[in-house]
Amino acid sequence: MASCPECDADIEVDEFDVDKGDQLSCPECGSNLEVTGLSPIELDLAPEDDDEDEEEDDELKEDDDDAEVDEEEEKEDEDWEE
Ligand SMILES: [Zn+2]
Repeated sequence: MASCPECDADIEVDEFDVDKGDQLSCPECGSNLEVTGLSPIELDLAPEDDDEDEEEDDELKEDDDDAEVDEEEEKEDEDWEE
């Protein structure tokens, strides 16, 4: 039995079922945990991927471009009517 470093919940881990470096998620708080020791079992928060931050930046840039295009299209429509 090990405990979550984030919320202190008891997590059932068999030291024969996991290896050092294995990752699992806490059933209580959902944190990604990494096995850092086997006897006794030690769990630590797994490092988060930096890739997720880069994807969010790309989405923000796309939204800005769309807003500019919409404004220009509206002006062109007005010219055609007159
Ligand atoms: Zn937890």
